[in-house]
Amino acid sequence: MRILISGASISGPVLAYWLTRYGYDVTVVERAPQLRKTGGHAVDLFRPAMEISERMGVLPQIEALATGTTELTIYREGARRPSHVDVTKLVGAASDRHVEIMRDDLSEAYYCAGKDDIEYLFGDSITAISPDGDVTFEHAESRRFDVVVGADGLHSNVRRLVFGEDAGRTQFLGGYLAVLSVPKTLARERQSLGHLGVGRVAMIYTAQPLDDARVVFLFRSKEELHYHYRDVLRQKELLQGAFAGMHPRVDRWLEELNLTPAFYFDSITQLQLNTWSRGRVTLVGDAGYCPGPAVGGSTSLSVFGAYVLAGELAQANGDYLRAFAAYERQMDEPVRRSRAFARTAAKRLVPGSAAGVWALARGAQLISALPTSLTRALAGLSARGVRVFDSMQYRDYPTTVGG
Ligand SMILES: Cc1cc2nc3c(=O)[nH]c(=O)nc-3n(C[C@H](O)[C@H](O)[C@H](O)COP(=O)(O)OP(=O)(O)OC[C@H]3O[C@@H](n4cnc5c(N)ncnc54)[C@H](O)[C@@H]3O)c2cc1C
Repeated sequence: MRILISGASISGPVLAYWLTRYGYDVTVVERAPQLRKTGGHAVDLFRPAMEISERMGVLPQIEALATGTTELTIYREGARRPSHVDVTKLVGAASDRHVEIMRDDLSEAYYCAGKDDIEYLFGDSITAISPDGDVTFEHAESRRFDVVVGADGLHSNVRRLVFGEDAGRTQFLGGYLAVLSVPKTLARERQSLGHLGVGRVAMIYTAQPLDDARVVFLFRSKEELHYHYRDVLRQKELLQGAFAGMHPRVDRWLEELNLTPAFYFDSITQLQLNTWSRGRVTLVGDAGYCPGPAVGGSTSLSVFGAYVLAGELAQANGDYLRAFAAYERQMDEPVRRSRAFARTAAKRLVPGSAAGVWALARGAQLISALPTSLTRALAGLSARGVRVFDSMQYRDYPTTVGG
């Protein structure tokens, strides 16, 4: 059985790895000319994604490449003194098995785990998919596949091609997100530093595997802003407007806007498809069920979804209609819970009032002051809340075909 996957970031390589383990013939097409190694950001892996990575044999590499951030200093607008937060305690409250790693490093670990048995077509993109599985590409010769999977992110090409109008069913979560690459000398390893104000947050961090530092900006907006997704100058103007006058340090970061080699800007938007399969085509990861970038644990959900989809295809012996139905059933609850979590996180991470700003800074400080055992015990009381990602249940699929 021949399976085509569009996208080689997180969900694509994880899915490809498991499908080849189950004996399928897998091709991955990626628009970028090679595996992307610039401009990524730090992402989180929670318990189920850690366990799946362990089964793939890549957990030691992933742990070795962890960002290692242990301390966060928060400057609250209007406050005289900063708050110091123990990041390990904060994370410990949300997860008992977690790692933070740069997205590009994670992608490479998954890619390397399976690349020898997978055909990768870099620098290409799908242009059409017929109901019979005939696929045309921008560059490669057209071919026929039994199954096509879109693992090509929030703005998925496969989703647009196959789902038409439904592809755009989204909910704006009231905020924007930007990431800027700045000189490493502006940050310190192991220590994040953030400025927190009403409706806006700016935070810098770096990590041992990085040659630069990254500044993440989050800001609120009641209305969706008007700009073209390719109009980077306008996006930079919008960002500058949102952070004007926050703090001289933030102004210094914004000076890098004209020099930065990597800039990312997008709305915090949640995909709201109720079903993400049509005929022989399905979606995985952010392409199918992005709860919102940076607010909904979407990396873990992507790894989890890729593992479940491959497992269900193997269980159904390639009967893809049966497998897709089982995959969607298995993902229903994790996706709904991640969406709910993301909607709350988008509000809490960027508070809309001075009281909210105070509560966020104070809450983080309090958690970091409690003994880890206590924060874990308190968090464990609400597995449906803060422990949403650790508590996702999945079936124990075999590690190889017939295994
Ligand atoms: C700024 C930012 C901050 C984030 N922070 C966090 C965080 O703190 N924690 C967390 O868990 N998650 C975070 N995320 C989300 C995380 O990056 C994604 O959930 C995760 O990368 C999803 O993986 P994916 O493989 O499904 O999609 P993506 O990582 O989006 O990858 C899609 C792939 O498809 C390729 N592609 C796109 N179009 C085509 C095409 N036409 N043809 C072929 N290939 C194509 C792209 O080049 C890319 O390689 C953040 C995301 C962003 C943008």
